[in-house]
Amino acid sequence: MRFSRMYLPTLKEEPAEAEVISHRLMLRAGMVRRLAAGIYSYLPMGLMALRNVEAIIRQEMNRAGAQELLLPAVQPAELWQESGRWDFYGKELLRITDRHQRNFCFGPTHEEVITDLVRHEVRSYRQLPLNLYQIQTKFRDEIRPRFGLMRGREFIMKDAYSFDVDDAAAGISYQGMREAYSRIFSLCGLDFRAVEADSGAIGGSFSHEFVVLAESGEDAVASCQACAYAANVEKAEGRFAAADKCAADAAAPAAAAVATPDRESVESVAAFFKVDPGAILKSMIFESDRGFCLVVVPGDREVNEIKVKAALGAEWLEIPAPSRIADELGLPVGYLGPVDTVLPLLVDRQVPELEAVVCGANRHGFHLQGVIWGRDFSCNKVADLVQVRAGDRCPRCGGLLQIDRGIEVGHIFKLGTKYSEKLKATFLDQEGQERPLVMGCYGIGVGRTVAAAIEQHYDENGICFPYAIAPFKVALLNLDLKSAEVTAACEALYAELEGRGIAVLYDDRNERPGVKFKDADLIGAPLRLTLGRKSFERGIIEARLRDGSSNAELPLADRAPLWSLLAELAADDSRIPS
Ligand code: ATP
Ligand code: MG
Repeated sequence: MRFSRMYLPTLKEEPAEAEVISHRLMLRAGMVRRLAAGIYSYLPMGLMALRNVEAIIRQEMNRAGAQELLLPAVQPAELWQESGRWDFYGKELLRITDRHQRNFCFGPTHEEVITDLVRHEVRSYRQLPLNLYQIQTKFRDEIRPRFGLMRGREFIMKDAYSFDVDDAAAGISYQGMREAYSRIFSLCGLDFRAVEADSGAIGGSFSHEFVVLAESGEDAVASCQACAYAANVEKAEGRFAAADKCAADAAAPAAAAVATPDRESVESVAAFFKVDPGAILKSMIFESDRGFCLVVVPGDREVNEIKVKAALGAEWLEIPAPSRIADELGLPVGYLGPVDTVLPLLVDRQVPELEAVVCGANRHGFHLQGVIWGRDFSCNKVADLVQVRAGDRCPRCGGLLQIDRGIEVGHIFKLGTKYSEKLKATFLDQEGQERPLVMGCYGIGVGRTVAAAIEQHYDENGICFPYAIAPFKVALLNLDLKSAEVTAACEALYAELEGRGIAVLYDDRNERPGVKFKDADLIGAPLRLTLGRKSFERGIIEARLRDGSSNAELPLADRAPLWSLLAELAADDSRIPS
């Protein structure tokens, strides 16, 4: 491609709207433009990067035996009612009405549609296993779209769905996808981890996320410093050992109410009583389809809402506005506590281990001191409800957990029969018995993968694309357009590169060398070739790797060293797991 002809509107200034590196660089490199919140146009170079990721995905999905299809983006409400998700998916689901007042949604994911397709076609175990995938635009009305393609509302996803005869066979499909995903993200040049994860709105029993480690990531991963355990903090558990605690001292003084005006936060209450925040109980009201509930955790820990939702067996969960709580209980949130509360309790497993604690007195301006579990309050709903933090112990080996930030680029789920039972997608097994299909589903965010790759590969001058996903493998800079000889040599090289199918951006613009160097750095082609008057006279082309790892002078008269350098760059798949 000639730069002079390419629709590649690079920006010199830092775009004000961008908060993270990848978003900034994708705007500056003319890859994307925002149309509305979380909705982006992909410009030619942006689309080239996406297509490269898609090509890797297709290659590896096909290798794993999956077959590509394309499902409709617009889905009828009836299917979502059948699965039960019409009511529970919430506001992320973009609901639309057609001219006949029929309800539809713009697909955020396709479990219902694929299950519907397969239930009409698959009858017998002989047609299984089956793995179908598509690469398609999804819409999720995200509450906080941000970071460009990282968290859009409209975005491109590869989603795959497997169908098997039983759990064991589904496990094999899952493992196959796990391996395919490892190859895909390795080929994309990413440093990633496969970690245990929560199944979220998709549901199912078991899942792994593929997380690209990056400071800007919205996810946090807990991993053990001693063993291979790694999990999203949404899911991670710390090791728990019940303390060897003596029975509560019968002589311990009774709990006493103490006036604590204007002390509503854990910190301010801890300071008031001169105790550690861990000796305060944090009590929070949650509302779910199961009603209200008071969740109680040690004051120095954060509540993990996903664990709360799981412990309640709830379909949805939210924190009601403080004004609603005040209306309901006549109390500001800062004075809630478990003693004599009218609300159902859910207590973190560490709470019964605490000695006498301080908690809200359910009375405006008061806290209780000397509160003892089992004497002053108790409940039979005790579970792990807190977020792990660095220094907690690994649930497998007891080693120390560390927390790293990362970007979830892929997610694989064992769905079991959640959708096939609801949608009555069954098959006849070898004995002629009718059984529900056992499913798995597997997603990759295509745009998010490109963004994540940039988060891991950039410098102060711009993007340093990994070769496999680079829109242009080579930037060829003609520094002396006025010289017929230099230009002829550039044109010849340009034609040869194109002839070999190597994506090259030939900078034939009438611009100063400084501008060309800047743009070449910005767009991140892995190899830069420069030809000007001086180098031409010396019979060489200057070659420089974008990541700064090497510079070389290649002979103008002999292409062999250039072809072998490019072959080396292309073959750098040493990171693929065997
Ligand atoms: P997140 O927790 O980040 O919202 P998710 O768990 O909702 O992700 P899945 O339903 O598993 O995501 O979707 C599969 C993949 O689609 C994700 O791994 C991610 O790469 C991509 N993805 C999901 N939501 C978005 C989004 N809003 N913008 C871009 N990519 C997304
Ligand atoms: Mg999501």
